[in-house]
Amino acid sequence: MRPDSEFDLITRYFAWPAPAGMLGVGDDCALLSVSHGFQMAVSSDMLVEGQHFFADVDPADLGYKALAVNLSDLAAMGARPLACTLALSIPRIDHHWLRGFSGGFQTLSRQAQCPLIGGDTTRNPAGVVISVTVMGEVRRNHALRRDAAKVGDDIWVTGELGAAELALRLMQGRLPADAARLAAARPALERPWPRLRFGQRLAGMGRAALDISDGLLQDLGHILRASHCGADLMFDRIPAAPMLDGLDENVRRDIILGGGDCYELCFTATPKRREQIQATARMLDVPVSRIGVVTRGDALRVLDADGAVLSVGRGGYDHFVGEGANGA
Ligand code: ADP
Ligand code: MG
Repeated sequence: MRPDSEFDLITRYFAWPAPAGMLGVGDDCALLSVSHGFQMAVSSDMLVEGQHFFADVDPADLGYKALAVNLSDLAAMGARPLACTLALSIPRIDHHWLRGFSGGFQTLSRQAQCPLIGGDTTRNPAGVVISVTVMGEVRRNHALRRDAAKVGDDIWVTGELGAAELALRLMQGRLPADAARLAAARPALERPWPRLRFGQRLAGMGRAALDISDGLLQDLGHILRASHCGADLMFDRIPAAPMLDGLDENVRRDIILGGGDCYELCFTATPKRREQIQATARMLDVPVSRIGVVTRGDALRVLDADGAVLSVGRGGYDHFVGEGANGA
């Protein structure tokens, strides 16, 4: 991109004032500090046109979501957002698109108190590529790491699962058209709310955590592998989005267990923390469900109401890998 047009573009859409104590857009680097006794948590996520979003997606939704999926990683670590950077590659300067995109990004950036303090802007004829990096802080030794689960821990999830995957499948024509269902499910796909406040409260209280981006079974599998243990899940306890009601039971189960792009938290905690977790959830108005238990060994089993095994082993749901426009 021509340097002058790049500069104009940055000042017009991305040069927001940095909060006191930080150096924001305009210098070679941004500057920020971490509170005493805290560690910095850093995460990047990339969104590629055609791969992670449709080319004709509303740019405001896209701007919102590019930041949301990153903030969700901070939430899953128990970190409080400090700031973010945005590397943006676009085929051409389209002011309508840029206004929408930066507006959506800024809306969430304000809500989550995660100011944009730098980035890079380039041209890419092949399509839009967005890479956001978030920086947060978490009290030393309080981060919710994937390798921290212990045998006997409860397994919990926040919210309800499946709405985003349902919306995606409806939009891709992989399920019969259903306008009412799509209208109900779509906000979960386009405007996921990262569980930031709950994640921060969970730091020091829960053990392992992650956000569900690739599907409950796959993502829980990451915790189990890192922590060298297995799990039993009670299928009937897994909270399903109500708009999945009435779908074919196999499809419904696939969506609940394998649906991506969800951004609820899945976490483990010692049973001693049950009361405290419930109280925190009530205080923050975040629904939580206790869906299973961490076991010895390495099997991930899903049990029905009678205790019969619905699916055995981690390979059981590999057919989800690479499916759909999710997996950001
Ligand atoms: P440099 O040549 O040092 O990489 P740039 O000209 O790329 O600097 O960027 C100038 C300033 O604008 C830098 O502070 C950079 O962080 C910021 N910036 C560039 N692109 C973006 C963007 N998309 N969002 C936020 N800040 C940006
Ligand atoms: Mg640059």
